[in-house]
Amino acid sequence: MTTAQVPQFIDEGAIVDTLRAHRKTDSGAVRAVLAKARELHGLEAAEVAVLMNVSDPELMGELFQTAADVKNTIYGRRLVLFAPLYVSNLCGNECTYCAFRARNTELKRRALSQEEIANEVRILIDQGHKRILLVAGESYPRQGFSYVLESIDTIYSVKHGKGEVRRVNVNVAPLTVDEFRALRERKIGTYQLFQETYHRETYTRVHVGGKKKDYDWRVTAMDRAMEAGIDDVGIGVLFGLFDWRFDLLALMQHIRHLEERFGVGPHTISVPRMEPATGSDLASHPPHPVSDVDFRKIVAILRLAVPYTGIIMSTRESADIRRETFALGVSQISAGSRTNPGGYAEDERLDSSQFCLGDHRSLDEVVRDVAGLGYIPSFCTGCYRLGRTGADFMDLAKPGDIKQHCDPNGLSTFMEYLIDYASPETRVVGERCIAQALTDMEAWPRKRSEQLMARVQAGERDVYC
Ligand code: SAM
Ligand code: SF4
Repeated sequence: MTTAQVPQFIDEGAIVDTLRAHRKTDSGAVRAVLAKARELHGLEAAEVAVLMNVSDPELMGELFQTAADVKNTIYGRRLVLFAPLYVSNLCGNECTYCAFRARNTELKRRALSQEEIANEVRILIDQGHKRILLVAGESYPRQGFSYVLESIDTIYSVKHGKGEVRRVNVNVAPLTVDEFRALRERKIGTYQLFQETYHRETYTRVHVGGKKKDYDWRVTAMDRAMEAGIDDVGIGVLFGLFDWRFDLLALMQHIRHLEERFGVGPHTISVPRMEPATGSDLASHPPHPVSDVDFRKIVAILRLAVPYTGIIMSTRESADIRRETFALGVSQISAGSRTNPGGYAEDERLDSSQFCLGDHRSLDEVVRDVAGLGYIPSFCTGCYRLGRTGADFMDLAKPGDIKQHCDPNGLSTFMEYLIDYASPETRVVGERCIAQALTDMEAWPRKRSEQLMARVQAGERDVYC
């Protein structure tokens, strides 16, 4: 795609106008938007702008309650778990907030060999993980982009102990349509890429070297991915770079663009907040820091604005913040993460990590915590393996429909986890959680869940519907 062909779907003028038109909070307007959000059809940009100004505690409580209700109606109490797998921290870009940036001499560089990747995968499998997010900087060892393709093959090829990885999602730099096709042929789950900020001037200021300087190449990446037949894409903003209100409205424009052009929006939205990173002053002093209150508001607003899209919360955030956002709309979380290549075998090393983590707990501890709060930790990979991706997934993700698959699959994969990997304490909490979830379920999904779990208890694995 040449610059002349770049679709101008991010309209900064329109965003600024919308922000200007909604400077004051109008409680009547806020309540009208919340009432509309309860219909589960999503929100328009102007309605999102109405919610962004809420600060009054009573209205804030109503916003959070509405988000919690919408989350519960669509997703029930399941929370999908995954782990990132950093294969390489080589990078040719100069993103001034990232420890992997090319000129950072404080970082120890490393690209894992295929055997080292397989070793990391074995460790993750032994912890109980089934879903991996492959992450890399934008510079690959000798073989170029095929390194990523080979790494995906390696991850899927490892059969170890009681399990295997069943879904590999990928977060790597923007690709050409042909490269995206190759990625699709590898049977990836979601292709994930964050625009960081949609504000062009800020983007140019913080990306000072390498291919990533090109805003248009990045903002059109999902168009190329979808052209190549990748149905499930994940977008996001790195909060802290620019005014979150602007970026939230721009994210809405990106979503509308994908919906209009491809008939389906993003499968997931990520909400990374900037964390301190070795060799980056900017990361320790974000120019537009997002407070904890605003951060929770962002999650709640996204849940109402795009009700059927998954929201991902990483271990950048502390355990407390993560817990609070589960209720507000988060549907996927990472756990036990390391952001340095080789970090699972050799543990966390700050001199090769991408940024500092806020939640250092193991997968077992996170699972116990989540189950104790009444959420169902899910390792399900059923949808994409049954071809329920893109528009098919979105159609299914309607209240009532999704629960018929997600709840039973969530419970059967959680049962697998409890039998194969959980500590005795986690098993006790988990079994209580499953019993409660079954009690709360309607008759039909309960029956299906019981059937799947009985098969798991009888020794079958990887059962889903
Ligand atoms: N190199 C590819 C890219 O930049 O798109 C993909 C991997 S990059 C390691 C993944 C994401 O990490 C980036 O998109 C960015 O949002 C996030 N990131 C970078 N530095 C960060 C920091 N200091 N704190 C939190 N997240 C950060
Ligand atoms: Fe490289 Fe990605 Fe870090 Fe930028 S954010 S320096 S592209 S790894």
